[in-house]
Order: sequence, then structure tokens, then C-alpha cells
Amino acid sequence: MMGRILVIGLDGATFEVIEPLISEGKLPTIERLLREGTRAVLESTAFPHSAPAWTSCMTGVNPGKHGVFGFGVRDDQNNYRFQLPNSTTVRAKTLPRLLSEYGKYSVLINEPISFPPYPINGTIISGMLTPQGARFTFPPEFQQELLKGVPNYVTEVSPFDFDLENTAGKGAYAAALFDTIQARTQAAQFLMEKETWDFFMVVFTELDRVQHHFWAEMDKSHLFHHQKDSSLNRVIPRTYEALDEAVRIITEARPSDAQVFVVSDHGAGPLEKIFYLNKFLEERGFLTLKTPILSGKQNPVKALIRKIPGTEAVYNRLVRLNRKRKQQSFKASDPRHYQQKIAQWVAEEMVDWDRTQAFTDHYGVRINRKGREPKGIVSPGKESQKILNDLREQLLGLRFPHNGKPVITDLREGSEVYHGPFAHLAPDLITFMDVGNPHPSYFTREVFRDSLVTTGAHKKDGIFIAWGPGIRQNHSLGRAYIVDVAPTATYTVGIPLTPEMDGRVLDIFDQGLDPLKLSDRRGTSMLSQEGEMTYTSEQESEIKDKLKSLGYLD
Ligand SMILES: [Zn+2]
Repeated sequence: MMGRILVIGLDGATFEVIEPLISEGKLPTIERLLREGTRAVLESTAFPHSAPAWTSCMTGVNPGKHGVFGFGVRDDQNNYRFQLPNSTTVRAKTLPRLLSEYGKYSVLINEPISFPPYPINGTIISGMLTPQGARFTFPPEFQQELLKGVPNYVTEVSPFDFDLENTAGKGAYAAALFDTIQARTQAAQFLMEKETWDFFMVVFTELDRVQHHFWAEMDKSHLFHHQKDSSLNRVIPRTYEALDEAVRIITEARPSDAQVFVVSDHGAGPLEKIFYLNKFLEERGFLTLKTPILSGKQNPVKALIRKIPGTEAVYNRLVRLNRKRKQQSFKASDPRHYQQKIAQWVAEEMVDWDRTQAFTDHYGVRINRKGREPKGIVSPGKESQKILNDLREQLLGLRFPHNGKPVITDLREGSEVYHGPFAHLAPDLITFMDVGNPHPSYFTREVFRDSLVTTGAHKKDGIFIAWGPGIRQNHSLGRAYIVDVAPTATYTVGIPLTPEMDGRVLDIFDQGLDPLKLSDRRGTSMLSQEGEMTYTSEQESEIKDKLKSLGYLD
């Protein structure tokens, strides 16, 4: 079997919202795909965020093999800092790279970790972390053609361009997101007509954004529902409806022999309280700050920034840069991301590392271990294990003060969760929460705070739907994993599986799976090797400069 495959990514889509909307008759296309196709709940990566999850979706391997654990990539240079990931820091081959080796043609639109766009046999329009003014297509000359065909194409609308604390501002933000869904659909149609492809993937990120900002409006049981303007209650449902229409247009435009996968990188749910894990560690004596944080009514971040020479200027420059940017934007332009970035910069200054045993870096708890961390104090082995045990007990016992529910639903050691050549970069303890993740900031007076602006966050369960000729109808697989998508796509296109893929081929076909093909793991290695990077050093330093100017690289 040699097939073509169309993947439509709906960032953050969850059956928990889809199913009620279907019973109201609101999502005719997705309803049809489910009825005529095979579905599964698609479990995300351990840290259910777009960067690791889409990267695992694109490679079929866990973060221990591709190196992207979160929106920070641990800098291996023996300091406490992180860099934002980009396509050059993905250490395993994505599907388009792999397919290129077999002469297969790919189109990739808006996959979150695809900037800088990289050379493939095919076309890329890069996603999420694309800075303004940067070239965002491969081949580069395609950019002009795209903007001629779809003049209002944008990578991302920045929430920072809108006042999200009032109804008019939020409404305008939602309207801008609807426009980007349409423009992205047009871009997909444009490429669909232009190219003959084996693999075509388009990711819509708008749903994730509205679920972060409009969950309380939709969800009557949300703690802050009654503080929200009821005119915005249907922003999330309307986004699903707009995407249902996009799925209809794109699937109708495809060649009829192509299979269709609809996938999300994670689900979503209500976020009511932010949990500041570093503050918790400080209160429990695992972490010590040099300067007692915060007095009076000062903005905590600004107050701290003022204490560190040079940092305030950088912060202000980032804010100014972002305000100038109206068209092309990216999620990291959200002020919360600046704060996080700055939190990383000042962490080294603010934390008394000689009196700190453990800290969080956003996607888990890290022991300040001797020989590994630059100012580590905890010996590996017994001492380290004792702290991990203490932490485990205290964290698992922690309850949200407003509803008594456990804050941390599960804790696992990094080595249990991740495996592969980059697994050593993972945190020591991975924290699982029902919704969202611990906030990594050091700058707060309380362990818990109301989450009034961001009222929704990620959950681990996303969606998978397969539909098309030869796909089992009205069938459910129960649970599948995000790493299963790439091997299933590889199998469908008809190239050998690779030895490293962690996922399995999903049993979605009428004919069942061919055991011979399944056992053929002779595919070329997934793991990128040194020297494979096809950028000139000039291109690379240009990209780095751009990222630097936007605060991406130190
Ligand atoms: Zn996502």
C-alpha cells in the first residue's frame, strides 16, 4: 500500500468540548469523520505542551530522543539557563525530513516548532516561534507567492496587542483569531491546488489560544464564570465551529485517495488557580532566595527587574518591540513569556544556590545536584534520593485551598518517563497536574493565586481521528499516544518504520495491519546527526540574531 496522507492539527482540541457540541448538531464535519472513521483519545507527552507534543507527533519519539521537553531547552553549558526551542534544536527527524529521504513530497503549514523553515522535498510555512520580518517559508521564494495569494496570512495573532482585561479587547482578539483561521485555510487550499504531495499537514493554533483565554466564559462551573461577560460565552464553541468548516474545506480539496488524520497535541480544561512551585519549595525550605521578595503593592516582576542592572532596559525593549508588531507575531510575545524568560535570567542572581536543594524549571523539579548543576550542593545517590522522597510526600499531599482537590496528581522520576540520548536533560521529578502545570516564577508572595486572565489550560488527553478510503468506520481504539501518529503516517505513506520510533502503528485499517511491514524497521535512523544541519553559518547567525533581537537567545 502506498498512500497519501493529510494531517489536520487542531492545537488543544478535546472530545470533552467536541462531544457536547456534536450532540447540539454544531460540528457536522467532525461528526461525519467520527461516524465514518476511527477515533482515539490521544495522550500527550508527559509535559503536555505544544513544543514537546507536536515534536513527538512529528517524529514518533519521546522528548528524551528529540530533546524538546518544553518551551525551554536546557542549555547544556553548565548554567541554570534555558533557550527557546526551534527547528534546529529538534534532534530527531520530523516526518517531512524523513519522507524527503524517500523522495516523498511534503507540505507543512504552521507546525509550531518549524521555524526556521528547513530544506525538505516540499514546502514549509513555519509556525508559532517565527519572529516578525523573518523569512518563514521554504523554499524562501514561496513566501512572496503565498502573500500574493493570501495577503492577510499571519503566523500568529499576539494576545499582547489586545486588552484582554475588558470585553471589547477580548472580542477583538477573538475576531482576529477567526481571521487567521480563514487565512490559514486559504493557504492550505492554495498549496493543495499547487502541489502534488504525499504528506500534507496544517496546524491550527487558534483553538489553544481561545481555550486559554475564554474557558471561564464557556464553563458555567468555572470559579470565575460569573465575573465574565456573557457576550463572549460562545467564543470557544464558535472556534470549534470555524475549525469544523476549515476541516470540511481542506478535506474536500484533497485528492480523494488521501487518508485524513485529525489530531491535537493535548486537550484543555478549566484553570482556576496558578500554582507557584518555586514559592512552595521556598516555603518548605528546599529553596532560598538571596533577597526577600516583594513588599508593598509593587508589580513583583518589575520590582525585581529594577534590582538587576540592565534587565529593565531589556524588558522595556521587548515590550516596545512587541507593541510595534501588529502583523506577524508569535506566542512568546505574550508578556507572561517575557516574565518567564526574565525569571530565567534573574534566577541565577536571585536564588541562593548554596542553600537551595531543589527548584522548578517549568516542567518538573530539578535537584540542585553536585557535579551537574553549576552551583550544586546535593550529592547524587542517597542524599538526592532522600530529597526526592520528601518532595514526593509533600507534593502529593498538597491540596488546592479553594476546592480541596490534589494539586499534583502524579509524580514520576525523569528517568522513568524519558529515555534516549537527551533524557539526562529532563528534570528529576515530573509533576503531573489534572489541568495545566506548575508556574516556574520565583516572583510571587503566595503559592496559589487566582488565574483571572488565563482561565483555561492544557490537559493530557487530546484527539485522534482517522478517516478516508480503507479506514475502519465508526470504530474506537480507546487510547493512543502522540508518538503513534508518526509511525502510523509512515506506514500509511508506505515507507519502512525507523528503529527508534517509540510509537506503534495504530490499527485503523479495514484490512488490518501487515505483520511484515510492521516488523520492517529498516528505515533510516530518526536521530539527527551532527553536520546534518543544512544551514550555512551565515543563515544560522542571521536567525540567531533575529531570535536575539526578540529576546529568544541570550
Ligand atoms: Zn498545544
